[in-house]
Amino acid sequence: MALSQKDIEKYRQLLEDKRAQIEKQVVGLRKKIKKSLDEDRVFERNSGDPDSDFITESSEIEKDEMLVHQLESAIEQIDDAIEAINEGYYGICQKCGNSIDKGRLNTIPWAKYCYTCQVELEDVEKGVA
Ligand SMILES: [Zn+2]
Repeated sequence: MALSQKDIEKYRQLLEDKRAQIEKQVVGLRKKIKKSLDEDRVFERNSGDPDSDFITESSEIEKDEMLVHQLESAIEQIDDAIEAINEGYYGICQKCGNSIDKGRLNTIPWAKYCYTCQVELEDVEKGVA
């Protein structure tokens, strides 16, 4: 079942809202990382002997950086979906060409594949297939 223009506009709105929300998160995290790094530098200068606090702080930064990375790839996926809307192939599985279930799009508006293909692809990634 193809999506109506009204549906598509709804998803576009969802995607744009989500994108703005994620971007805000990324900006916040980047600030936090930068601040942590600056503090670490001060700490190193003062003591020269990193203790457990320093180590905790570093892994905290790593976690944040990983999260930023994840969020940025989410933004890429959202951008792809918005492009798909603009190009008129939104909601169509890019593997098998079937329509993606609306329920699926409501949960994951940036879904590129129908559920069946997604599961298949994930199995391939995991090396199960
Ligand atoms: Zn498919």
